[in-house]
Amino acid sequence: MSTETSTKTGSCLCGKIKYRLEGHAATPIYNTVCHCLNCRKWLGSAFLTASICSKNVSQAILLNTNPSQYSHKATQGFSITEGEDVLRRYVDDKTGSGKPLTRTFCGTCGSSLFAFTPLREDIVSVAAGTLDDFESWEPAREQWCIHRADFVENVRGISEESRHAMNVQAKPAKD
Ligand SMILES: [Zn+2]
Ligand SMILES: [Zn+2]
Repeated sequence: MSTETSTKTGSCLCGKIKYRLEGHAATPIYNTVCHCLNCRKWLGSAFLTASICSKNVSQAILLNTNPSQYSHKATQGFSITEGEDVLRRYVDDKTGSGKPLTRTFCGTCGSSLFAFTPLREDIVSVAAGTLDDFESWEPAREQWCIHRADFVENVRGISEESRHAMNVQAKPAKD
């Protein structure tokens, strides 16, 4: 029987911040490529690769500014295992949804790490390039394709219905 839980780990560039996705959180709800302009700025790159994972612990993480209230003890879900004290956050209030998105990054090396939305307090968006095992990462969705850089083609292996002009929920505007 399968009580064995899978675990994924990751870190920022300098290695001060380490995190873990355990149990059900290690299997993303979905992996996505985001071409939105905010992610572009956040990363300084053409697009974001993100794993949307259930978080399951410390729902108030980073929405609360008191580090002592962060949880490290979880054996399921998402946890920051090292370096929470150097994690910085930026509240991005110019999002497509109009809801502020909390984006976080390493205060030492600047790596973009996690994003949190009040629309779904049970999930974390992990910048997937920070996963220790990115080799096996495969996108299932593509979003904000209206802002896809001209030199970037359709991401391979994604069905048409999983390719979104804007955010995952929104339908393309027709006029
Ligand atoms: Zn770092
Ligand atoms: Zn984005």
